[in-house]
Amino acid sequence: MGRYKINAFVIRATRLTESSRVVTLFTKEFGKVKAVAKGVDRPKSKLGGVIELFNLIEAVLYKKETSELGTLSDASVIDVYPGSSEEPRRYGFGSAWSEILDKTSHPDHPRPKTFGLTEEYFRILNRSKLEKSGLLFWTALYKLLILEGYAPEIHKCASCGKTDFKANIIVSWKRGGLICGKCRDNDDTIMKLSSKSLDLLRKMSSDSLEDMTEVSIDEKTGKNAAEVILAFASYHLGLPRNLKSFKFLETLAD
Ligand SMILES: [Zn+2]
Repeated sequence: MGRYKINAFVIRATRLTESSRVVTLFTKEFGKVKAVAKGVDRPKSKLGGVIELFNLIEAVLYKKETSELGTLSDASVIDVYPGSSEEPRRYGFGSAWSEILDKTSHPDHPRPKTFGLTEEYFRILNRSKLEKSGLLFWTALYKLLILEGYAPEIHKCASCGKTDFKANIIVSWKRGGLICGKCRDNDDTIMKLSSKSLDLLRKMSSDSLEDMTEVSIDEKTGKNAAEVILAFASYHLGLPRNLKSFKFLETLAD
């Protein structure tokens, strides 16, 4: 039995017994870890209020080399993201991010940079204006693509290198970015991109999450850019296009 000190985000929780839960953690040290929080729902449990969705915690994990499921003890909160759970829109974008981490992470496969991005995303999501949550989420997903090595080529044709893109802009997720008319071939993994959406993608690529919360965009431009990011994330990271939390977000749109 190993005993490990971990830093982790709680990204999922399911009930195991009346007072215990199985939680999925995105840890800095080991990637995705599943663990039992015994007695977390007993009134006097020290884990109560600590092992809550989105929280960044420090804890001791006991785990057998051969077992997928560990046990948590001595957990304490490093950061709470109450806004993320109390306000439906923030909760939705917090859940969507947690679901992405869950789908793209594996045991014994740490991703320290993604851990850092998650910390930054939750912190800014928690205090930025509500109407900026969407832009913040899509920018964070774009930055995740960059970290994982799937940054779209957004400055020249991914095939021939042509740089002059003004009208009829096309992007191919299979070939990893912009594709000029000559290189289009029979590629069926393509989508039209407006020049305003291309500018937005370029901004998402170069600017910080913090700076993006100051950017104003119209709905059509945002939607077009989001579709491209989702297509890339789904093709390259294996993210389902119909994440549960995306459906939830649709119901929030007015
Ligand atoms: Zn080309």
